[in-house]
Amino acid sequence: MPKPCTQCSAEFAVTDEDRALLDKMTPAFNGKGFPIPDPLLCFDCRLGRRLAFYNCRSLYKRTCDYSHKPIISIYTPDKPFTVYEKNIWYSDSWDPMDYGRDFDFSRPFFEQFRELMETVPQLSRGVVGENENSEYTNDNYKLKNCYLVFDGEQGESCSYGNTFGMVRDCMDFLGLMQCELCYECTACSGSYNLKYSRYCSNCSDSWFLRNCGGCKNCFGCANLRQKQYCIFNEQKTKEEYLEFMKSFDSSKHSVIQAMLKKTENFFLPQPVKYLQGEKNIDCVGDSLLNCKNAYMCFEGTHLQDCRYCTGCLMGGKDNCDVHIWGNNMELCYNCCVVGDQSQNVIAGYYITQGVSNVYYSTFCSRNSSDLFGCIGLRQKHHCIFNKQYTKEEYEELAGRIAAHMIETGEWGQFFPPEISAFAYNETKAQEYFPLSKEEVLKRGWQWSDFEPVVEAEKSIPSSQLPDDSERIPDDVLNWAITCEKTGKLYKLNAKELAFYREHRLPIPRRHPDQRHNDRMALKNPFVVYDRDCLKCNKSVQTTHSPEMDKPVYCEKCYQEDVY
Ligand SMILES: [Zn+2]
Ligand SMILES: [Zn+2]
Repeated sequence: MPKPCTQCSAEFAVTDEDRALLDKMTPAFNGKGFPIPDPLLCFDCRLGRRLAFYNCRSLYKRTCDYSHKPIISIYTPDKPFTVYEKNIWYSDSWDPMDYGRDFDFSRPFFEQFRELMETVPQLSRGVVGENENSEYTNDNYKLKNCYLVFDGEQGESCSYGNTFGMVRDCMDFLGLMQCELCYECTACSGSYNLKYSRYCSNCSDSWFLRNCGGCKNCFGCANLRQKQYCIFNEQKTKEEYLEFMKSFDSSKHSVIQAMLKKTENFFLPQPVKYLQGEKNIDCVGDSLLNCKNAYMCFEGTHLQDCRYCTGCLMGGKDNCDVHIWGNNMELCYNCCVVGDQSQNVIAGYYITQGVSNVYYSTFCSRNSSDLFGCIGLRQKHHCIFNKQYTKEEYEELAGRIAAHMIETGEWGQFFPPEISAFAYNETKAQEYFPLSKEEVLKRGWQWSDFEPVVEAEKSIPSSQLPDDSERIPDDVLNWAITCEKTGKLYKLNAKELAFYREHRLPIPRRHPDQRHNDRMALKNPFVVYDRDCLKCNKSVQTTHSPEMDKPVYCEKCYQEDVY
Protein backbone atom coordinates (compact mmCIF):
# COMPACT_ATOMS: atom_id res chain seq x y z
CA MET A 1 0.00 0.00 0.00
CA PRO A 2 1.52 3.35 -1.02
CA LYS A 3 1.80 5.93 1.73
CA PRO A 4 2.91 9.57 1.73
CA CYS A 5 6.51 10.47 2.53
CA THR A 6 6.55 12.42 5.81
CA GLN A 7 8.95 14.92 4.28
CA CYS A 8 7.81 15.60 0.71
CA SER A 9 4.37 13.90 0.70
CA ALA A 10 5.19 11.90 -2.43
CA GLU A 11 3.53 8.47 -2.40
CA PHE A 12 5.85 5.51 -1.96
CA ALA A 13 5.39 1.86 -1.10
CA VAL A 14 7.19 -0.44 1.30
CA THR A 15 6.98 -3.76 -0.51
CA ASP A 16 7.04 -7.31 0.88
CA GLU A 17 10.57 -7.64 -0.50
CA ASP A 18 11.63 -4.46 1.35
CA ARG A 19 10.07 -5.78 4.54
CA ALA A 20 11.75 -9.18 4.19
CA LEU A 21 15.19 -7.58 3.83
CA LEU A 22 14.62 -5.22 6.77
CA ASP A 23 13.50 -8.16 8.90
CA LYS A 24 16.66 -10.04 7.97
CA MET A 25 18.67 -7.13 9.44
CA THR A 26 16.86 -6.98 12.77
CA PRO A 27 19.42 -6.18 15.48
CA ALA A 28 19.17 -8.17 18.70
CA PHE A 29 20.37 -7.14 22.13
CA ASN A 30 20.22 -9.65 24.99
CA GLY A 31 18.42 -12.02 22.64
CA LYS A 32 15.59 -9.58 22.01
CA GLY A 33 15.04 -8.35 18.46
CA PHE A 34 14.45 -4.67 17.68
CA PRO A 35 12.90 -4.72 14.20
CA ILE A 36 13.66 -1.87 11.83
CA PRO A 37 10.40 -0.03 11.22
CA ASP A 38 9.05 0.74 7.74
CA PRO A 39 10.78 3.83 6.31
CA LEU A 40 8.88 7.11 6.77
CA LEU A 41 10.61 8.77 3.84
CA CYS A 42 10.49 8.08 0.11
CA PHE A 43 13.61 6.89 -1.74
CA ASP A 44 14.70 10.45 -2.67
CA CYS A 45 14.24 11.85 0.81
CA ARG A 46 16.04 8.89 2.39
CA LEU A 47 18.95 9.35 -0.01
CA GLY A 48 18.92 13.14 0.53
CA ARG A 49 19.07 12.65 4.28
CA ARG A 50 22.15 10.45 4.04
CA LEU A 51 23.77 12.81 1.57
CA ALA A 52 23.18 15.79 3.88
CA PHE A 53 25.73 14.19 6.21
CA TYR A 54 28.32 13.81 3.48
CA ASN A 55 30.65 16.63 2.49
CA CYS A 56 32.62 15.20 -0.38
CA ARG A 57 33.80 18.23 -2.35
CA SER A 58 33.94 21.33 -0.11
CA LEU A 59 37.49 22.01 1.06
CA TYR A 60 38.82 24.87 3.17
CA LYS A 61 41.99 26.16 4.72
CA ARG A 62 42.10 25.95 8.51
CA THR A 63 44.49 24.90 11.26
CA CYS A 64 44.82 21.50 12.88
CA ASP A 65 43.57 21.84 16.46
CA TYR A 66 46.28 19.50 17.69
CA SER A 67 49.43 20.65 15.88
CA HIS A 68 48.15 24.18 15.05
CA LYS A 69 49.63 23.75 11.59
CA PRO A 70 47.75 25.01 8.51
CA ILE A 71 45.83 22.19 6.83
CA ILE A 72 43.21 21.59 4.15
CA SER A 73 39.99 20.30 5.63
CA ILE A 74 36.36 19.60 4.87
CA TYR A 75 35.50 21.68 7.96
CA THR A 76 35.33 25.48 7.69
CA PRO A 77 37.31 27.25 10.43
CA ASP A 78 34.07 28.54 11.96
CA LYS A 79 32.65 25.07 12.73
CA PRO A 80 32.22 24.13 16.40
CA PHE A 81 34.41 21.06 16.02
CA THR A 82 37.88 20.03 17.05
CA VAL A 83 39.61 18.95 13.84
CA TYR A 84 42.82 16.92 13.66
CA GLU A 85 44.81 16.36 10.52
CA LYS A 86 44.94 12.79 9.28
CA ASN A 87 48.29 11.63 10.67
CA ILE A 88 47.35 12.80 14.15
CA TRP A 89 43.76 11.63 13.98
CA TYR A 90 44.85 8.10 13.09
CA SER A 91 47.66 8.08 15.70
CA ASP A 92 47.70 7.20 19.39
CA SER A 93 48.37 10.83 20.36
CA TRP A 94 44.79 11.05 21.53
CA ASP A 95 42.10 8.66 22.72
CA PRO A 96 38.50 8.93 21.55
CA MET A 97 37.48 7.05 24.71
CA ASP A 98 38.46 10.13 26.76
CA TYR A 99 35.24 11.71 25.50
CA GLY A 100 32.93 8.92 26.68
CA ARG A 101 29.68 9.85 28.38
CA ASP A 102 26.48 8.36 29.77
CA PHE A 103 23.30 8.20 27.76
CA ASP A 104 20.49 10.37 29.11
CA PHE A 105 17.13 8.62 28.82
CA SER A 106 15.24 11.87 29.38
CA ARG A 107 16.40 13.23 26.00
CA PRO A 108 16.28 12.13 22.34
CA PHE A 109 19.26 10.22 20.93
CA PHE A 110 20.20 12.53 18.06
CA GLU A 111 20.75 15.70 20.12
CA GLN A 112 23.03 13.77 22.47
CA PHE A 113 24.92 12.36 19.49
CA ARG A 114 25.46 15.87 18.11
CA GLU A 115 26.93 16.90 21.49
CA LEU A 116 29.36 13.98 21.27
CA MET A 117 30.26 15.09 17.72
CA GLU A 118 31.17 18.50 19.08
CA THR A 119 33.66 17.06 21.56
CA VAL A 120 35.38 14.10 19.85
CA PRO A 121 38.06 15.36 17.42
CA GLN A 122 37.06 15.00 13.77
CA LEU A 123 39.19 13.73 10.89
CA SER A 124 40.23 16.77 8.79
CA ARG A 125 39.47 15.05 5.48
CA GLY A 126 38.89 11.52 4.28
CA VAL A 127 42.24 10.09 3.34
CA VAL A 128 43.16 6.45 3.67
CA GLY A 129 46.83 5.50 3.57
CA GLU A 130 49.53 7.72 2.13
CA ASN A 131 48.75 10.24 -0.58
CA GLU A 132 51.57 12.06 -2.29
CA ASN A 133 51.37 15.75 -3.10
CA SER A 134 47.56 15.65 -3.20
CA GLU A 135 46.48 17.93 -0.37
CA TYR A 136 43.45 19.44 -2.06
CA THR A 137 41.47 16.22 -2.26
CA ASN A 138 38.95 14.29 -0.18
CA ASP A 139 37.77 10.71 0.19
CA ASN A 140 40.69 9.17 -1.58
CA TYR A 141 43.14 6.37 -1.39
CA LYS A 142 46.56 6.18 -3.08
CA LEU A 143 46.87 9.45 -4.96
CA LYS A 144 49.90 11.09 -6.48
CA ASN A 145 50.07 14.68 -7.74
CA CYS A 146 46.30 15.13 -7.81
CA TYR A 147 44.30 18.30 -7.33
CA LEU A 148 40.63 18.70 -6.48
CA VAL A 149 39.69 15.09 -7.03
CA PHE A 150 37.16 13.39 -4.80
CA ASP A 151 35.86 9.94 -3.96
CA GLY A 152 38.34 7.68 -5.69
CA GLU A 153 41.41 5.57 -5.52
CA GLN A 154 44.68 5.16 -7.36
CA GLY A 155 44.93 8.41 -9.28
CA GLU A 156 48.02 10.04 -10.67
CA SER A 157 48.38 13.57 -12.07
CA CYS A 158 44.62 14.15 -12.25
CA SER A 159 42.60 17.29 -11.56
CA TYR A 160 38.96 18.22 -11.10
CA GLY A 161 37.46 14.76 -10.91
CA ASN A 162 34.91 12.82 -8.94
CA THR A 163 34.43 9.08 -8.42
CA PHE A 164 37.25 7.12 -10.03
CA GLY A 165 39.65 4.23 -9.84
CA MET A 166 43.02 3.79 -11.52
CA VAL A 167 43.18 6.99 -13.57
CA ARG A 168 46.14 8.91 -14.92
CA ASP A 169 46.54 12.36 -16.49
CA CYS A 170 42.79 12.94 -16.64
CA MET A 171 41.09 16.27 -16.14
CA ASP A 172 37.49 17.30 -15.52
CA PHE A 173 35.85 13.92 -15.17
CA LEU A 174 33.12 12.01 -13.40
CA GLY A 175 32.98 8.26 -12.90
CA LEU A 176 36.14 7.05 -14.64
CA MET A 177 37.72 3.63 -14.24
CA GLN A 178 41.11 2.71 -15.69
CA CYS A 179 41.41 5.73 -17.94
CA GLU A 180 44.31 7.82 -19.15
CA LEU A 181 44.48 11.25 -20.75
CA CYS A 182 40.73 11.72 -20.76
CA TYR A 183 39.14 15.15 -20.65
CA GLU A 184 35.52 16.06 -19.91
CA CYS A 185 34.45 12.42 -19.78
CA THR A 186 31.63 10.97 -17.71
CA ALA A 187 31.03 7.32 -16.84
CA CYS A 188 33.79 5.82 -19.02
CA SER A 189 36.17 2.95 -18.50
CA GLY A 190 39.32 1.53 -20.02
CA SER A 191 39.76 4.52 -22.31
CA TYR A 192 42.72 6.52 -23.56
CA ASN A 193 42.84 10.06 -24.91
CA LEU A 194 39.08 10.43 -25.04
CA LYS A 195 37.42 13.83 -24.91
CA TYR A 196 33.91 15.13 -24.21
CA SER A 197 32.46 11.61 -24.07
CA ARG A 198 30.20 9.60 -21.83
CA TYR A 199 29.17 6.02 -21.21
CA CYS A 200 32.03 4.62 -23.28
CA SER A 201 34.40 1.74 -22.71
CA ASN A 202 37.74 0.85 -24.25
CA CYS A 203 37.76 3.80 -26.65
CA SER A 204 40.81 5.80 -27.65
CA ASP A 205 41.90 8.93 -29.52
CA SER A 206 38.30 10.03 -30.01
CA TRP A 207 36.03 13.00 -29.42
CA PHE A 208 32.35 13.43 -28.51
CA LEU A 209 31.32 9.77 -28.23
CA ARG A 210 28.35 8.34 -26.44
CA ASN A 211 27.71 4.68 -25.58
CA CYS A 212 30.58 3.46 -27.75
CA GLY A 213 32.81 0.48 -27.12
CA GLY A 214 36.23 -0.33 -28.51
CA CYS A 215 36.28 2.61 -30.92
CA LYS A 216 39.38 4.40 -32.11
CA ASN A 217 39.72 7.66 -34.02
CA CYS A 218 36.03 8.39 -34.03
CA PHE A 219 34.20 11.69 -33.72
CA GLY A 220 30.64 12.52 -32.65
CA CYS A 221 29.39 8.93 -32.69
CA ALA A 222 26.83 6.99 -30.66
CA ASN A 223 26.31 3.25 -30.13
CA LEU A 224 29.27 2.11 -32.22
CA ARG A 225 31.33 -0.99 -31.47
CA GLN A 226 34.91 -1.62 -32.63
CA LYS A 227 34.92 1.11 -35.27
CA GLN A 228 37.63 3.34 -36.59
CA TYR A 229 37.47 6.58 -38.60
CA CYS A 230 33.77 7.25 -38.11
CA ILE A 231 32.32 10.75 -38.04
CA PHE A 232 28.73 11.16 -36.84
CA ASN A 233 28.27 7.40 -37.23
CA GLU A 234 29.43 7.42 -40.85
CA GLN A 235 32.36 5.33 -41.94
CA LYS A 236 35.12 7.43 -43.48
CA THR A 237 38.48 6.56 -44.92
CA LYS A 238 41.53 7.30 -42.86
CA GLU A 239 42.37 10.23 -45.16
CA GLU A 240 38.88 11.69 -44.88
CA TYR A 241 39.01 11.39 -41.11
CA LEU A 242 42.40 13.08 -40.86
CA GLU A 243 41.26 15.82 -43.21
CA PHE A 244 38.22 16.44 -41.01
CA MET A 245 40.31 16.52 -37.84
CA LYS A 246 42.64 19.05 -39.44
CA SER A 247 39.70 21.37 -40.00
CA PHE A 248 38.43 20.95 -36.41
CA ASP A 249 40.03 23.74 -34.42
CA SER A 250 39.63 22.36 -30.92
CA SER A 251 41.52 25.19 -29.24
CA LYS A 252 38.63 27.60 -29.86
CA HIS A 253 35.96 27.93 -27.20
CA SER A 254 33.34 28.81 -29.81
CA VAL A 255 34.17 25.71 -31.90
CA ILE A 256 33.87 23.36 -28.90
CA GLN A 257 30.58 24.94 -27.81
CA ALA A 258 29.10 24.62 -31.29
CA MET A 259 30.27 21.01 -31.52
CA LEU A 260 28.76 20.15 -28.11
CA LYS A 261 25.44 21.46 -29.36
CA LYS A 262 25.71 19.64 -32.66
CA THR A 263 26.63 16.31 -31.08
CA GLU A 264 23.84 16.53 -28.47
CA ASN A 265 21.36 17.11 -31.30
CA PHE A 266 22.82 14.18 -33.18
CA PHE A 267 22.58 11.93 -30.11
CA LEU A 268 18.94 12.81 -29.42
CA PRO A 269 17.31 10.36 -31.89
CA GLN A 270 19.91 7.60 -31.26
CA PRO A 271 18.54 4.63 -29.35
CA VAL A 272 19.47 4.10 -25.73
CA LYS A 273 19.32 0.88 -23.76
CA TYR A 274 16.67 0.86 -21.03
CA LEU A 275 19.35 0.22 -18.42
CA GLN A 276 22.93 1.35 -18.61
CA GLY A 277 25.06 -1.65 -17.74
CA GLU A 278 26.00 -5.22 -18.47
CA LYS A 279 25.83 -8.74 -17.09
CA ASN A 280 22.93 -8.05 -14.75
CA ILE A 281 20.22 -10.49 -13.73
CA ASP A 282 16.80 -9.34 -12.53
CA CYS A 283 17.80 -5.78 -11.75
CA VAL A 284 15.91 -2.51 -11.59
CA GLY A 285 17.97 0.67 -11.62
CA ASP A 286 20.79 2.00 -13.76
CA SER A 287 24.53 1.98 -14.32
CA LEU A 288 24.90 -1.53 -12.94
CA LEU A 289 27.50 -4.15 -13.68
CA ASN A 290 27.45 -7.82 -12.66
CA CYS A 291 24.51 -7.34 -10.30
CA LYS A 292 21.85 -9.85 -9.35
CA ASN A 293 18.47 -9.06 -7.91
CA ALA A 294 19.37 -5.44 -7.20
CA TYR A 295 16.26 -3.31 -6.90
CA MET A 296 16.32 0.48 -7.30
CA CYS A 297 20.10 0.44 -7.25
CA PHE A 298 22.16 2.94 -9.21
CA GLU A 299 25.85 3.01 -10.01
CA GLY A 300 26.58 -0.39 -8.50
CA THR A 301 28.90 -3.28 -9.21
CA HIS A 302 28.57 -6.87 -7.91
CA LEU A 303 25.48 -6.16 -5.83
CA GLN A 304 23.37 -9.11 -4.83
CA ASP A 305 19.93 -8.95 -3.25
CA CYS A 306 20.41 -5.24 -2.51
CA ARG A 307 17.75 -2.54 -2.49
CA TYR A 308 17.95 1.25 -2.83
CA CYS A 309 21.76 1.32 -2.90
CA THR A 310 23.61 4.07 -4.76
CA GLY A 311 27.28 4.44 -5.64
CA CYS A 312 28.20 1.03 -4.22
CA LEU A 313 30.88 0.23 -6.78
CA MET A 314 32.68 -2.40 -4.73
CA GLY A 315 29.80 -4.80 -4.30
CA GLY A 316 27.85 -6.30 -1.44
CA LYS A 317 24.99 -8.59 -0.44
CA ASP A 318 21.72 -7.95 1.39
CA ASN A 319 22.16 -4.21 1.83
CA CYS A 320 19.47 -1.58 1.83
CA ASP A 321 19.69 2.21 1.54
CA VAL A 322 23.45 2.50 1.38
CA HIS A 323 25.18 5.34 -0.44
CA ILE A 324 28.78 4.72 -1.50
CA TRP A 325 31.19 1.93 -1.18
CA GLY A 326 30.90 -1.82 -0.55
CA ASN A 327 33.50 -4.58 -0.76
CA ASN A 328 32.23 -7.56 1.22
CA MET A 329 29.55 -5.37 2.73
CA GLU A 330 26.63 -7.29 4.15
CA LEU A 331 23.39 -6.49 5.93
CA CYS A 332 24.01 -2.75 6.13
CA TYR A 333 21.04 -0.42 6.34
CA ASN A 334 20.69 3.34 6.02
CA CYS A 335 24.41 4.06 5.76
CA CYS A 336 26.68 6.45 3.94
CA VAL A 337 30.30 5.66 3.03
CA VAL A 338 30.41 2.16 4.47
CA GLY A 339 32.41 -0.81 3.30
CA ASP A 340 35.47 -2.98 3.40
CA GLN A 341 34.19 -6.10 5.23
CA SER A 342 31.48 -4.21 7.12
CA GLN A 343 28.55 -6.24 8.40
CA ASN A 344 25.37 -5.44 10.29
CA VAL A 345 25.78 -1.68 10.31
CA ILE A 346 22.69 0.45 10.85
CA ALA A 347 22.81 4.22 10.39
CA GLY A 348 26.57 4.34 9.96
CA TYR A 349 28.70 7.04 8.41
CA TYR A 350 32.33 6.28 7.50
CA ILE A 351 32.33 2.77 8.91
CA THR A 352 35.12 0.61 7.50
CA GLN A 353 37.60 -2.23 7.82
CA GLY A 354 35.98 -5.32 9.24
CA VAL A 355 33.44 -3.80 11.59
CA SER A 356 30.27 -5.58 12.67
CA ASN A 357 27.14 -4.88 14.71
CA VAL A 358 27.67 -1.12 14.69
CA TYR A 359 24.68 1.18 15.19
CA TYR A 360 24.31 4.93 14.92
CA SER A 361 28.04 5.56 14.79
CA THR A 362 30.49 7.52 12.67
CA PHE A 363 34.17 7.08 11.76
CA CYS A 364 34.57 3.69 13.45
CA SER A 365 36.94 1.15 11.94
CA ARG A 366 39.49 -1.67 12.25
CA ASN A 367 37.60 -4.74 13.41
CA SER A 368 35.46 -2.90 15.93
CA SER A 369 32.21 -4.58 16.90
CA ASP A 370 29.14 -4.00 19.03
CA LEU A 371 29.22 -0.22 19.11
CA PHE A 372 26.24 2.06 19.65
CA GLY A 373 26.38 5.84 19.26
CA CYS A 374 30.18 5.96 18.97
CA ILE A 375 32.58 8.25 17.12
CA GLY A 376 36.12 7.58 15.94
CA LEU A 377 36.71 4.20 17.62
CA ARG A 378 39.22 1.63 16.36
CA GLN A 379 39.48 -1.97 17.54
CA LYS A 380 36.87 -1.39 20.22
CA HIS A 381 34.02 -3.62 21.34
CA HIS A 382 30.93 -3.11 23.50
CA CYS A 383 31.04 0.69 23.65
CA ILE A 384 28.19 3.17 23.90
CA PHE A 385 28.76 6.91 23.46
CA ASN A 386 32.51 6.19 23.48
CA LYS A 387 32.32 4.54 26.90
CA GLN A 388 33.51 0.99 27.59
CA TYR A 389 31.07 -1.60 28.95
CA THR A 390 31.23 -5.33 29.61
CA LYS A 391 29.40 -7.49 27.06
CA GLU A 392 26.49 -7.97 29.47
CA GLU A 393 26.26 -4.28 30.32
CA TYR A 394 26.42 -3.41 26.63
CA GLU A 395 23.62 -5.76 25.61
CA GLU A 396 21.37 -4.46 28.36
CA LEU A 397 22.04 -0.75 27.77
CA ALA A 398 22.00 -0.95 23.94
CA GLY A 399 18.61 -2.66 24.14
CA ARG A 400 17.27 0.05 26.42
CA ILE A 401 18.54 2.80 24.08
CA ALA A 402 16.99 1.05 21.06
CA ALA A 403 13.68 0.85 22.96
CA HIS A 404 14.03 4.54 23.86
CA MET A 405 14.65 5.39 20.19
CA ILE A 406 11.56 3.44 19.16
CA GLU A 407 9.58 5.72 21.48
CA THR A 408 11.20 8.92 20.21
CA GLY A 409 10.68 7.78 16.60
CA GLU A 410 14.44 7.82 15.93
CA TRP A 411 14.96 4.05 15.56
CA GLY A 412 15.66 3.10 11.94
CA GLN A 413 16.06 6.71 10.80
CA PHE A 414 19.37 8.06 9.56
CA PHE A 415 20.93 11.04 11.41
CA PRO A 416 18.86 14.13 10.52
CA PRO A 417 20.36 17.10 8.58
CA GLU A 418 19.92 19.27 11.69
CA ILE A 419 22.81 17.48 13.40
CA SER A 420 25.03 17.11 10.32
CA ALA A 421 28.58 18.41 10.72
CA PHE A 422 28.03 20.29 7.48
CA ALA A 423 25.64 22.81 6.05
CA TYR A 424 23.28 21.38 3.43
CA ASN A 425 24.96 23.35 0.64
CA GLU A 426 28.37 21.87 1.53
CA THR A 427 27.15 18.34 1.05
CA LYS A 428 26.28 15.91 -1.73
CA ALA A 429 22.61 16.52 -0.92
CA GLN A 430 22.85 19.93 -2.62
CA GLU A 431 24.21 18.24 -5.77
CA TYR A 432 21.40 15.70 -6.04
CA PHE A 433 18.55 17.66 -4.48
CA PRO A 434 19.43 21.36 -4.78
CA LEU A 435 17.57 23.75 -2.48
CA SER A 436 17.74 27.52 -2.03
CA LYS A 437 19.04 29.01 1.20
CA GLU A 438 15.46 29.96 2.14
CA GLU A 439 14.16 26.42 1.58
CA VAL A 440 16.99 24.93 3.62
CA LEU A 441 16.50 27.32 6.56
CA LYS A 442 12.72 26.86 6.44
CA ARG A 443 13.26 23.14 7.03
CA GLY A 444 15.41 23.92 10.05
CA TRP A 445 18.54 22.68 8.31
CA GLN A 446 21.92 24.36 8.12
CA TRP A 447 23.29 26.70 5.41
CA SER A 448 26.82 28.01 5.03
CA ASP A 449 27.73 31.41 3.59
CA PHE A 450 31.41 30.72 4.09
CA GLU A 451 33.27 31.58 0.88
CA PRO A 452 36.99 30.89 0.59
CA VAL A 453 38.92 33.99 -0.52
CA VAL A 454 40.39 33.75 -4.02
CA GLU A 455 43.62 35.75 -4.08
CA ALA A 456 44.44 37.30 -7.43
CA GLU A 457 45.91 40.46 -8.95
CA LYS A 458 42.71 41.08 -10.86
CA SER A 459 39.61 39.31 -11.95
CA ILE A 460 38.17 39.08 -15.45
CA PRO A 461 34.83 37.84 -16.70
CA SER A 462 35.24 34.55 -18.54
CA SER A 463 33.63 36.11 -21.62
CA GLN A 464 36.72 38.31 -21.99
CA LEU A 465 39.06 35.36 -22.33
CA PRO A 466 40.38 35.06 -25.89
CA ASP A 467 38.42 32.49 -27.90
CA ASP A 468 41.59 30.66 -28.79
CA SER A 469 43.56 29.13 -25.91
CA GLU A 470 46.77 29.67 -27.82
CA ARG A 471 46.26 33.40 -27.49
CA ILE A 472 45.97 33.25 -23.70
CA PRO A 473 49.04 34.76 -22.02
CA ASP A 474 50.84 33.04 -19.13
CA ASP A 475 49.74 35.97 -17.04
CA VAL A 476 46.28 34.33 -16.81
CA LEU A 477 47.69 32.33 -13.90
CA ASN A 478 47.70 35.50 -11.81
CA TRP A 479 44.08 36.33 -12.57
CA ALA A 480 40.85 35.18 -11.11
CA ILE A 481 38.20 34.31 -13.69
CA THR A 482 34.51 34.93 -13.07
CA CYS A 483 32.39 31.85 -13.83
CA GLU A 484 29.93 32.60 -16.64
CA LYS A 485 27.16 30.70 -14.87
CA THR A 486 27.58 31.33 -11.13
CA GLY A 487 29.79 34.42 -10.97
CA LYS A 488 32.12 32.57 -8.61
CA LEU A 489 35.83 33.28 -8.94
CA TYR A 490 38.30 30.57 -9.84
CA LYS A 491 41.93 30.37 -10.85
CA LEU A 492 43.91 28.22 -13.24
CA ASN A 493 47.15 26.52 -12.30
CA ALA A 494 50.24 26.09 -14.44
CA LYS A 495 49.69 22.36 -14.86
CA GLU A 496 46.20 22.68 -16.25
CA LEU A 497 47.16 25.56 -18.54
CA ALA A 498 49.90 23.35 -19.96
CA PHE A 499 47.34 20.56 -20.42
CA TYR A 500 44.95 22.84 -22.35
CA ARG A 501 47.76 24.03 -24.56
CA GLU A 502 49.22 20.60 -25.19
CA HIS A 503 45.82 19.13 -26.07
CA ARG A 504 44.66 22.23 -27.92
CA LEU A 505 41.67 22.78 -25.66
CA PRO A 506 39.99 26.04 -24.67
CA ILE A 507 40.20 27.31 -21.12
CA PRO A 508 37.03 26.46 -19.20
CA ARG A 509 34.74 29.40 -18.58
CA ARG A 510 32.99 27.87 -15.63
CA HIS A 511 34.03 27.37 -12.01
CA PRO A 512 35.19 23.80 -11.26
CA ASP A 513 32.07 23.25 -9.08
CA GLN A 514 29.82 24.27 -11.96
CA ARG A 515 31.75 22.01 -14.33
CA HIS A 516 31.15 19.18 -11.90
CA ASN A 517 27.43 20.01 -11.76
CA ASP A 518 27.32 20.10 -15.57
CA ARG A 519 28.72 16.57 -15.69
CA MET A 520 26.34 15.41 -12.96
CA ALA A 521 23.51 16.58 -15.23
CA LEU A 522 24.81 14.32 -18.03
CA LYS A 523 24.44 11.21 -15.87
CA ASN A 524 21.24 9.23 -15.86
CA PRO A 525 19.18 10.20 -12.80
CA PHE A 526 18.38 7.92 -9.84
CA VAL A 527 14.80 7.36 -10.89
CA VAL A 528 12.90 4.61 -12.66
CA TYR A 529 9.90 4.91 -14.99
CA ASP A 530 7.76 2.31 -16.68
CA ARG A 531 7.78 2.56 -20.45
CA ASP A 532 7.76 0.33 -23.51
CA CYS A 533 10.62 -0.68 -25.77
CA LEU A 534 10.18 1.38 -28.91
CA LYS A 535 10.87 -1.61 -31.15
CA CYS A 536 9.09 -4.59 -29.60
CA ASN A 537 6.80 -2.88 -27.04
CA LYS A 538 8.13 -5.00 -24.20
CA SER A 539 7.64 -3.10 -20.94
CA VAL A 540 10.88 -1.97 -19.33
CA GLN A 541 11.89 -0.03 -16.25
CA THR A 542 14.24 2.76 -17.18
CA THR A 543 15.69 6.07 -16.04
CA HIS A 544 14.48 7.67 -19.28
CA SER A 545 11.21 9.46 -18.63
CA PRO A 546 8.31 8.53 -20.93
CA GLU A 547 7.77 12.25 -21.40
CA MET A 548 11.07 12.45 -23.19
CA ASP A 549 10.73 11.60 -26.84
CA LYS A 550 13.67 9.22 -26.87
CA PRO A 551 14.04 5.79 -28.50
CA VAL A 552 14.47 3.48 -25.50
CA TYR A 553 15.16 -0.15 -26.40
CA CYS A 554 15.00 -3.30 -24.33
CA GLU A 555 18.18 -5.35 -23.93
CA LYS A 556 17.41 -7.65 -26.87
CA CYS A 557 16.46 -4.93 -29.33
CA TYR A 558 19.40 -2.78 -28.33
CA GLN A 559 21.81 -5.68 -28.89
CA GLU A 560 20.27 -6.43 -32.30
CA ASP A 561 20.41 -2.81 -33.33
CA VAL A 562 23.82 -1.88 -32.08
CA TYR A 563 25.91 -4.94 -32.79
ZN1 LIG B 1 9.99 12.25 0.12
ZN1 LIG C 1 12.56 -4.57 -27.47
